Amino acid sequence: MRALAKTTPGPGLDLIEVPEPRPGPNDVKIRVLRAGLCGTDLHLQQWDDWAAATVHPPLVIGHEFYGEIVELGDDVGVTTGGRLAVGQRVSGEGHVVCGHCRNCRAGRRHVCINTQGIGVNRDGAFADFVVLPAGNVWVQPDSITPELGAIFDPFGNATHTALQWPMVGEDVLVTGAGPIGVMATAIARHAGARYIAVTDLSDYRLGLARRAGADLVVNSATTRLSQVQRELGMKEGFDIGLEMSGAPPAVREMLDNMNHGGRVAMLGLPKDDYAVNWGKVITHMITIKGIYGREMFDTWYAMSAMLQTSAELRAAITSVITHTFPAEEWATAFDTARGGQCGKVIMDWEA
Ligand SMILES: [Zn+2]
Ligand SMILES: [Zn+2]
Repeated sequence: MRALAKTTPGPGLDLIEVPEPRPGPNDVKIRVLRAGLCGTDLHLQQWDDWAAATVHPPLVIGHEFYGEIVELGDDVGVTTGGRLAVGQRVSGEGHVVCGHCRNCRAGRRHVCINTQGIGVNRDGAFADFVVLPAGNVWVQPDSITPELGAIFDPFGNATHTALQWPMVGEDVLVTGAGPIGVMATAIARHAGARYIAVTDLSDYRLGLARRAGADLVVNSATTRLSQVQRELGMKEGFDIGLEMSGAPPAVREMLDNMNHGGRVAMLGLPKDDYAVNWGKVITHMITIKGIYGREMFDTWYAMSAMLQTSAELRAAITSVITHTFPAEEWATAFDTARGGQCGKVIMDWEA
């Protein structure tokens, strides 16, 4: 089969022929139809410090996908109660947890201390086939298009972050209008926020956020949030912050614009350590919570339920997908994603 792989420790990727993966007794083999390109994949391609410290080539990369079950491991029928079948269309939770650490045993699998990520720690989904433990497979209804199914992983990041606290009537600040920030904006709108302001340095991406439901979009290069608050008629500061940029200046400005007692959920990964005004966090009694991945599987149920009954949210989430390339044109897909004049970039493995 074809697979987009990191073959040696160093920059670059190769589309190579490899044997098809074989499912273990509790695994499912899936034919990949679409796959989403993520910032993580760009880091892996460029081989930065994080990639060098984390990845052991050879490795098939990719963790956002939608496909069709083609084979079940021998025990899957019993262990899943007959829930899975060949031919089903599915997405997959890319975090494979250990099942025996304290958090796993307590049902908090998203905070497993031994998590292995597909496409990072084990072979991933930029390939014609991927193998995943049966418990990680999420069956999709016909109403979910292959493209939409391929972005359930980042949609899950957005959902996990945005639904940390009740949104009804709250003023929400989203810093970072990449695909996850745009999707979080759509979820905040769906979940009843009053005003949603989104910041970024790219007018293109701010346009996507606007279409997904932002009341105000702010280019941080030219406009200050304090100004925007006045425009919206806000008097006391934002109630909820969703940090999607990993950019220290964005975080500092967010903390400067939160109401006392504000709550901040942080998903954007910074490159390096940085300073923030902890005095403000303390005296304003701001809650900061780090978010990673998706809750298994509450986030998945929430995503599916929200999309099922809201055509508006389905359209808003789909609108984040701006480019689709055949898998053979993976290099163009990566260049496009790196260029930033895009939302979500999808690779079509059927083409
Ligand atoms: Zn991703
Ligand atoms: Zn565990």
